[in-house]
This record gives sequence, structure tokens and C-alpha cells, in this order.
Amino acid sequence: ERLNNDFQFIEVGRQGPEKIPAGVRKQQFAEIYEPFQNKDASNQAHRCLECGNPYCEWKCPVHNFIPNWLKLVTEGNIMEAVELSHQTNSLPEVCGRVCPQDRLCEGACTLNDEFGAVTIGSVEKYITDTAFAMGWKPDMSKVEWTDRKVAIIGAGPAGLGCADILVRNGVKPVVFDRNPEIGGLLTFGIPEFKLEKSVMSRRRDVFTEMGVEFRLNTEVGKDVTMQQLMDEYDAVFLGMGTYTYMKGGFPGEDLDGVYDALPFLISNVNHCLGFEKDPAEYISVKGQKVVVLGGGDTAMDCNRTSIRQGAESVVCAYRRDEENMPGSKREVENAREEGVQFLFNRQPVEVVGENGKVTGVKVVATRMGEPDENGRRRAEVVPGSEEVLDADAVLVAFGFRPSPAPWFADFGIDLHDDGRIKTDAQPQTMGRFAFQTSNAKVFAGGDMVRGSDLVVTAIDEGRKAAEGILDFLEV
Ligand code: FAD
Ligand code: SF4
Repeated sequence: ERLNNDFQFIEVGRQGPEKIPAGVRKQQFAEIYEPFQNKDASNQAHRCLECGNPYCEWKCPVHNFIPNWLKLVTEGNIMEAVELSHQTNSLPEVCGRVCPQDRLCEGACTLNDEFGAVTIGSVEKYITDTAFAMGWKPDMSKVEWTDRKVAIIGAGPAGLGCADILVRNGVKPVVFDRNPEIGGLLTFGIPEFKLEKSVMSRRRDVFTEMGVEFRLNTEVGKDVTMQQLMDEYDAVFLGMGTYTYMKGGFPGEDLDGVYDALPFLISNVNHCLGFEKDPAEYISVKGQKVVVLGGGDTAMDCNRTSIRQGAESVVCAYRRDEENMPGSKREVENAREEGVQFLFNRQPVEVVGENGKVTGVKVVATRMGEPDENGRRRAEVVPGSEEVLDADAVLVAFGFRPSPAPWFADFGIDLHDDGRIKTDAQPQTMGRFAFQTSNAKVFAGGDMVRGSDLVVTAIDEGRKAAEGILDFLEV
């Protein structure tokens, strides 16, 4: 029954879509949530208090019109809801699936503490998926095409956010990516149990029909040069992400059986999707004792991929406590349900092995000390607390650093000391534009500008950079 009650937030509890039981989902690389039924989405949306000054909107990096589209859902008006949600977000069905809502929109919901936040992410996903199923497509009939074209390097969320705004303003985006599919880390990083790959191929079709051109399997700097792009296009947007793996800097990291997180996850995606060029590329931990080092989204994805590959056991060791873990709480809970064991306050000091092959990870216990300059509490070592965790495979998920291309210097693209690209995020100077680099014709956004972060912040920067490009081109 569809409910319509002013006190719905009390009478109807927070309830997300059904989750597939852990025993079943452990066996498959498929999303773990069932789709929302229409009445459930509507009843959950109706819990929204329509706060006069909605904190959820402020906390959402793209400032979605959340209460407005929730209301449209309660009215069964999916077509208006999807139009409204696309005014602020280029990939709402993706954000609905992978945003850490507990830290963003839902964390800021007025109902969060006492009654349970509105299930904003699930409704956002529901709106787009339902609209697509009903045949919705972005309306491009009023677009006035210009003769301008922009090259975009990288088909990740930053590049796609940029392409979306440009094409809707009549500027032709041509997106270059070295991968065989669009999405960046959405396809070659985030596993299918969080985001099925059909979501991105559906978006590829939608963007293509809107007028975005994709040149896949094309690496800039190898298959095509930056100079060619600078000569042929009116502007260039860089959305190339961050791909230097952080190391622990302790002994034993180069033993056999120690893998960086991303190659492990990518080899699994390639194996599942049939993109594998050579079967030897596939890293399998079937039947092995796995230790995952780290506490972010990437570590959680390694944990849950290992479980699905049939690891004998999966232990995730993290140097801070659970409260201070950077990963989404929802994903930690999902990992736990699927059989991952967490060891908090453990800092790896050495990977140990025999005959060149890993046999374990030596860790020390830590306790939380005083907050550091960023307000995060530092982990201090407890003397005499060393122990060795048995391991046949160790997955290192310590995050990513920028990976600036060697050709940036040739084009006068300046970097910060840590390798991030310098841009004018909020231009204060006359004649400068949003997300413009030190080369006036080149713009940049996403992880390569802000350091590795989130899908939604990359989308946001791509969209803002597109506004900067439109101003620069005087469109
Ligand atoms: P990317 O997504 O990295 O895209 C960059 C693209 O540029 C890639 O496709 C790359 O192939 C291409 N490229 C680079 N150089 C070239 C070149 N020279 N020529 C052609 N193409 C090039 N965020 C969340 O919000 N929620 C999550 O649950 C989450 N989980 C994550 C899990 C993992 C395992 C990882 C690694 C990250 C996760 N993130 C998550 C972070 C999120 O994926 C990134 O912040 C986001 O994808 C960054 O977007 P981007 O467009 O800046 O870069
Ligand atoms: Fe919440 Fe992310 Fe959607 Fe914003 S984009 S409303 S933060 S799920």
C-alpha cells in the first residue's frame, strides 16, 4: 500500500531495498540490493520532512534537489523527478549505488539520529533506473549546436560529467580513454557487487545518442599525441585520475603473493567481463588465506572480491579503530556479513615469507592518540604487541597518489608538489576560468586535481570545469 501521512517518518521506519542473503551473494559478482518496488520507494520518500533549509542538499557535493525529487516520487512522477535529478548530477544511478551516503546526504538528514535517515541514495538510483526502463532519454531537441569541439582525456566520472554539460550546451565532446569501456574506476576498479557493468554500458549508449563521441582503446601520449589534440580542438579537459599505488614502505612488500589492490581488482573485472588478454593476468586467491591491508573503499572491495573468488579466509587489518575508518560504513557491514574478519588497531610492519613467497604479515597493535593537524586521531604503537597473521596472499590497499603524465611539462601544465594538477577551482582573477590549468586552453578535474576521492566529487569538478570551458569559449 502507498502511504501518505504527515507522520510517516515515525510510523514507517527507514528501510532500504531488500538485500540478497550473504550466502547467495558471496557466490556471485552481482549487485547485492534488489530494486526498490514502486510503493516502497514512494513510502520511503514520503518520510522526508521537506526541511526548509535541507542539510542533505548542502552536504551532497553536487547539491542535488533532494526533497524536491523525493516529493515527485511520492506523487509517482518519475519523468519529472529524473529530469530534475539530471539538472545537478550526470550519473545519478551511479551515485545512488556507490556514494558513501552515511557521510554525505543521509548523514546530514534531520531524521538521521533518532528516526533513521531517508534512504536518499536508493531513491536516487530508483528514479533513474525506473525512468530508463520507461524509455526516458535526455531531451536534446532544444540544444543549439555550435561549431566548437573539446577533447576530454579520461572517460571516468570527471570526464563524463564534463562531457554531459558540454554536449547539453551544443559543444561537441570527444572522449579519449585507454580502456575498452567508459567509466574509469567505475568500470575498472569498483567491483560488480557494488555497481554492475551494464549500468555503464547503458550510459555509454545514452551519452553517444546525446552526441558525445568516445574513442576507446586510445591512450593519449601513445596512440594520439597531446599536440594533435591541442591543434584539432578548441579546448582540452584532463580527467585522468590517480594511478600511483601507495606502498607501506616495510620489508617483504616484493615477495610473491603480495599484490597491489588495483591490479588485483582490475584482473578480476577483466576476467569476469572477458576483457582478459592473457589468462595468466588473472590474480586468483581461491583457497588461500588472504590478508588485506587498509581501511578504505578499495580495501573493502578487495575483501569482498577475495570472498567471492573462494578464499579460505579473509582478514582485513587496519591501523586505526572502526570509528576512524575512511571507507563507507555500509560496505564494512556488507563485508562483515559476507565473512570478512576485521582486525582494528593493527599496523603492518613487515611481510614475512619463505623461499621468496609470502607466509604472513607481522603487525603491531596500535591505540588511538591525539588528533593530528587534520583532526584525525593518530595511531600509536603498543610496545611488545607484535604478532604474525598467516597469509598466502596479501593485498595492499593503501590508496593512490597522483600520476602526472611526462608530457604535462611540454604544455606548461603546472603541478602542486605532490603531483596534483594546479587549477583555478574558484577563479578570483579576471580572465581566468573555473578549473583552468596554467595552460589557458587546458582544464582539469577529479582525482588528478583533488587527490583520490569520490565518484560524486569527480562528477562535480567535471561539470564545473565544463562551465569554465563554456565561459572560455564564450559559448
Ligand atoms: P578515474 O575514474 O580514475 O578515470 C580516469 C580515466 O582516465 C580512466 O578511465 C583512465 O583509463 C583514463 N586515462 C588516464 N590517462 C589516460 C591517457 N593518457 N589516455 C587515455 N585515457 C587515460 N568512490 C566512491 O564515491 N564510492 C565508492 O564506493 C568508491 N569505491 C572505490 C573503489 C576502488 C577500488 C577505487 C580504486 C576507488 C573507489 N572510489 C569510490 C573512488 C572513485 O572511483 C574515484 O574517486 C573516481 O573514479 C575518480 O574519477 P576520475 O574521473 O577523476 O578518475
Ligand atoms: Fe547523496 Fe551522493 Fe546522491 Fe548526493 S549524489 S544525494 S551525496 S547519493
